Amino acid sequence: MLFGRFADNDYWKLVRPDAVYVWNNEEVRRRLSWYYKVMNDEAPAKFMLAKIVEAEDNPQKLNLEALIDIKNKLSREHNMLWNRARKGEITLEDYLRDFRSKPEYSLLHIDSELAKRYSSPCRLCERRCRVDRINKLGACRIDLKTYVHSWFHHLGEEPPLVPSGTIFYGGCNFTCVYCQNYDISQTAPRFGDIVDARKLADIQRILRIKGARNINHVGGDPTPNIHTIVESLLYLEVNTPQLWNSNMYVSLEAMDILVDIIDIWLPDFKYGSNSCATRLSAAPRYVDVVLRNLQLAASNGDMIIRHLVLPNHIDCCSIRVMDYIASKLPVNKLLVNIMEQYRPEHLVVKYPNRWRDISRRPKMEELGRVYDYAKKLGILFEPIS
Ligand code: SF4
Repeated sequence: MLFGRFADNDYWKLVRPDAVYVWNNEEVRRRLSWYYKVMNDEAPAKFMLAKIVEAEDNPQKLNLEALIDIKNKLSREHNMLWNRARKGEITLEDYLRDFRSKPEYSLLHIDSELAKRYSSPCRLCERRCRVDRINKLGACRIDLKTYVHSWFHHLGEEPPLVPSGTIFYGGCNFTCVYCQNYDISQTAPRFGDIVDARKLADIQRILRIKGARNINHVGGDPTPNIHTIVESLLYLEVNTPQLWNSNMYVSLEAMDILVDIIDIWLPDFKYGSNSCATRLSAAPRYVDVVLRNLQLAASNGDMIIRHLVLPNHIDCCSIRVMDYIASKLPVNKLLVNIMEQYRPEHLVVKYPNRWRDISRRPKMEELGRVYDYAKKLGILFEPIS
């Protein structure tokens, strides 16, 4: 079986003392207030709330149009519950006391059924391959099965997230030429263990009860696995924040499902230019799609945006990304991690002349320009970068 280390003793506090002290920062606590509540079992996670929003009919018997209609109605109800939980009007204690018996069908069942329908022919992400994934591979290089390559308590994530119950899924809808996880995302995505929804729920349960602050869905990218992930939550009875660690190239239909279940978003915002995204990640319309999804996500959970600084892409990407964050997103409500750890990998190492612009690490002066600019725009990055 596939698993790594657990942090069920306190040794992680020695390795990552910043993961303890970060909560002394009032701004971090304010900006991640929902996540903080769920992490500490003060409030039920969004997926737990989705379980108590009753649906009258068996979703499997409904056509797509009816499913979407009901989903829209129930999502409004769910949103009201979430707002009450955010204000402290529904605590986890209240939830466990008042909702011992769950309805036979709920919003979560509707979301799970919708995710299945969107997965074949597949339009879970903005590639919209529309392939029948039962018989074929999508552009994400996987079929309908979910391949988990490893799962463990990750101690290398941003301080508020550590220890993070991380699940690495095979497959990715991007083809980044510098990918650091290219084995699981591009070259051997189906070499992981095949995991169904019940098994995935088990993995999440173990990660949480052994001390994870959250369940971190990552890859590759988690998007091609949305159908398994949403179904797994039907079997998960342990309260835990759900974290979406993704390139955010998610279709609007799939985003509509995710906003019902994700408590904290950990999106990449890689490029400020569509042409750089197409050239380096084969992701057309990148800025439009990702910005749209980030706006949706920001009003439906807490958020830490990651931006990896690429050498020679300061003006076309980093500066523009900072501008987008400051002008198009609720900059006072989110945190940003400006990442300096880019190193040439994968195809960049194999064909350095073809990818000459990114065949070195970023220089200090390039990083300094991004930090200064972010500061000038009032972006909060220092507690976590
Ligand atoms: S998730 Fe995969 S199969 Fe589905 S649309 Fe995206 S790339 Fe295609």
